[in-house]
Amino acid sequence: MSGEVDLQTDRAHGARIYDFVLGGKDNYAADRAAAEDSLRVWPALPVHMRVNRQFMHRASRFLATECGIDQFLDVGTGIPTSPNLHEVVQQVRPDARVVYTDNDPVVLAHARALMPSTARGRTAFADADLRDPDSILSAPEFRELLDLDEPVGLMLIAVVHFIEDDDEALDVVRRIIDVLPSGSFVAATIATDDFAPELLAGVREAYREHGEVLRFRSHAQASRFFDGLELLDPGVVQMHKWRPDEPRTLQIPEADIAMYAGIARKP
Ligand code: SAH
Repeated sequence: MSGEVDLQTDRAHGARIYDFVLGGKDNYAADRAAAEDSLRVWPALPVHMRVNRQFMHRASRFLATECGIDQFLDVGTGIPTSPNLHEVVQQVRPDARVVYTDNDPVVLAHARALMPSTARGRTAFADADLRDPDSILSAPEFRELLDLDEPVGLMLIAVVHFIEDDDEALDVVRRIIDVLPSGSFVAATIATDDFAPELLAGVREAYREHGEVLRFRSHAQASRFFDGLELLDPGVVQMHKWRPDEPRTLQIPEADIAMYAGIARKP
């Protein structure tokens, strides 16, 4: 890691809070404080985060096996946690290509080391910010690995809640979808407080106190990310209800899951 990179360890970062709650080691005091304060008000946080990760696995496997997708753009990758997206899709399609993007320097440092290309499938990592879609679309990794004449799987898993302004979040996502060809898919999880508003106000406050934002969206607001796309069944639902692998997942209380999920096809 370059000595010049400012890791901004004085404030909490979404990637590192998530890493701590999922049992990782790439986090700092501010991240652990934000996580611990959140856990005090909403003990379901680890369940919620694991279910998010499981949706990412389910969605990427679904796109690779059922929808013929063999190239992925993952925005807001997070600190590597096995299995990562490329491991899931390259298991079904060894030649699949994955471009990872994130704007957190800790993620960047680890991801480059831990997510190497294999003999057939390729992975690359771009330091890019969703709030500046051109930083993603003009990244050499994006241009070299992804063939925009063929459908792409765009993964927006647990990332849009870091953009507070609705119009801005919708606009930057739209600008990425606009460059993808017809037949591409978008899979997203979008934070909501619809099922436990009071508890989640406490979580948002814990994040805020330690320097990180958290924007919750209603079902109608979450659905707007899929405007103009063909939503697959069952539509925009709490993420544990999106085609669960195991029926017992449905026994998780609604109040424990603070994210909607959806997958849609670009016509
Ligand atoms: N997608 C992974 C990780 C989610 S954590 C998963 O669901 O398992 C959210 C990630 O989004 C963090 O790594 C954070 O650094 C990243 N992120 C937040 N805001 C971002 C932005 N504006 N541009 C790119 N990445 C961002």
